[in-house]
Amino acid sequence: MDTQTTSKKMLSFLDPAQPQPWASFIEQIDRVAPHLGKLGYWLDTLKHPKRVFYVGIPIRRDDGTLEHFEGYRVHHNLSRGPGKGGVRFHPNVSMNEVMALSGWMTIKNAALNLPFGGAKGGVRVDPASLSTGELERLTRRYTSEIGILIGPNKDIPAPDVGTNEQTMSWMMDTYSVNQGATVSGVVTGKPISLGGSLGRREATGRGVFVTAREAGLLQGVAMKDARVVIQGFGNVGSVAAQCFAAAGARVVALQDASGSVSNPDGIDVEAAIACVKAGDRLVDMPGVEVISAEDFWNIPSDYLVPAALEGQIDASLAERLDTKIIVEGANGPTLPEADDVLAKRGITVVPDVVANAGGVTVSYFEWVQDFSSFFWSEQEINQRLESIMSAAFHSVAELAVERKVSLRTAAFIIACTRILAARDRRGLYP
Ligand code: NAD
Repeated sequence: MDTQTTSKKMLSFLDPAQPQPWASFIEQIDRVAPHLGKLGYWLDTLKHPKRVFYVGIPIRRDDGTLEHFEGYRVHHNLSRGPGKGGVRFHPNVSMNEVMALSGWMTIKNAALNLPFGGAKGGVRVDPASLSTGELERLTRRYTSEIGILIGPNKDIPAPDVGTNEQTMSWMMDTYSVNQGATVSGVVTGKPISLGGSLGRREATGRGVFVTAREAGLLQGVAMKDARVVIQGFGNVGSVAAQCFAAAGARVVALQDASGSVSNPDGIDVEAAIACVKAGDRLVDMPGVEVISAEDFWNIPSDYLVPAALEGQIDASLAERLDTKIIVEGANGPTLPEADDVLAKRGITVVPDVVANAGGVTVSYFEWVQDFSSFFWSEQEINQRLESIMSAAFHSVAELAVERKVSLRTAAFIIACTRILAARDRRGLYP
């Protein structure tokens, strides 16, 4: 007979002690208000997500017990096109976090001028604690539950922390089975064999590197022998590390969920990737010194790349960071009060909404390729990615100089102007 595990945890959205990244997003929006002129009339639109959808996800564990997980999909704003944003599987996922992440997607898509609104999803689960079969059942049930919101013209999910090509394959299959037709354009970040795009897996890390390089050029920070510190060594952090190393920089410290390591002469990035791929811990790889989390943030660098989770750099950490350029691989790693400290100290922050937009840019390419069933070469994809990312960075940098604001505020001004102009043109229904 089936048994049911009794959860003692309350639903996370009822728990006020959870972190509140949505408050950081609201504060970033407030900072743009003085720069929007008449369009400021519509600004409150961005403080109110369009739809916040909670789904309960029951799955049968391999031992026959029943377990429920919390899932979310949020449409933050659809003024400029269908929703676009990843799906996160992580034990700290909450409604508040998914709302913030969806808001950043709205801004990012508009900052890059991609024809999408902002969305995001997530399940509060540690994927490593589930068997492959359990993970598949969880993914399929989640997809089916959010099925009324997603679709190639409505909202197109993609991978984020804790999800990957396999997750996207299950999502695409589940949606397709429920529709009675193969719908490859419902998700991006798929394997090539299912209509994925060449270069998608590497796109975010590659974009992080492109924006870092361009910021370095403006500031006279040479790439050759530059010291790079990276937090998070998953999809984004590891590819960014490869690009920095290939350009002659030295990755002098890395941190992932297993701990922190350093080597002032440069960590062997390929060996670190092989170590993680083999399922070993970064802290067990040869040729590095294991250091504390405290020491990790003290290591001097030219480029610091937070590429793990949000809320990592607070005001007190910002006071002691010894770096020249922070390139936000992760979404929301720097709190607004830390932004102020970094600006005062003359440390440049290349904001997430530009720095990590390479992933959604190639997701856009994938979506376009799926619609036309015509696929581009990797060289074509990388060239287009490079030119879009570099142009987006420079238009943000130019506006920042013109308005005397941070790169983040400049990116928000460009994005909010596009979103609210669309809102204004569309008018208010009814
Ligand atoms: P991932 O799951 O592939 O990797 C996450 C990495 O962070 C892992 O190395 C993990 O060990 C590490 N990590 C987790 N918790 C940590 C902690 N408490 N301290 C230090 N390290 C920790 O995820 P990813 O796809 O590389 O995403 C990383 C960040 O980049 C997220 O903020 C995500 O939203 C953002 N991002 C990802 C993409 C993409 O295309 N994958 C696109 C844009 C933004």
